[in-house]
Amino acid sequence: MSQPESAGNCERCQQILYGHLGVFEGELYGVVVVAIRETSPRNWICCDACSVMLCHACCTHPQSGYCDQCFDAITSEEQGMRQRRENHESVLGATPARQAGFDEH
Ligand SMILES: [Zn+2]
Ligand SMILES: [Zn+2]
Repeated sequence: MSQPESAGNCERCQQILYGHLGVFEGELYGVVVVAIRETSPRNWICCDACSVMLCHACCTHPQSGYCDQCFDAITSEEQGMRQRRENHESVLGATPARQAGFDEH
C-alpha cells in the first residue's frame, strides 16, 4: 500500500491539497504499533465517514474530521436520538405519524 506524494485536489473546489500523512511503525512490548502523524501542515481533511477529500475552506468543521454533509448527518442524528428519547412518552400516546409519511414518497 503506497500513497501518492501529492495529496490531490479538493473534490469540491479543485484546490490543490498539500501536506500529507506519514505512517510510523514501531514496536512496543512486542506489539507492532502504527501511528499516523502529519508530516507537514495540511489544508485538507479526508472525511472519516465518506472518505471525501476536502480543503479546509470547503468544510465548516475540519477539526472534526468529517465533511459538512457527514458532520450534519452525525450531529443531527445525535440530536434526533436525544429528542426521540425525550419525546418517547408523548410519542407512545400519539397517532402513527410514520404511515402518513409514506404517502409523500
Ligand atoms: Zn475546497
Ligand atoms: Zn463525509
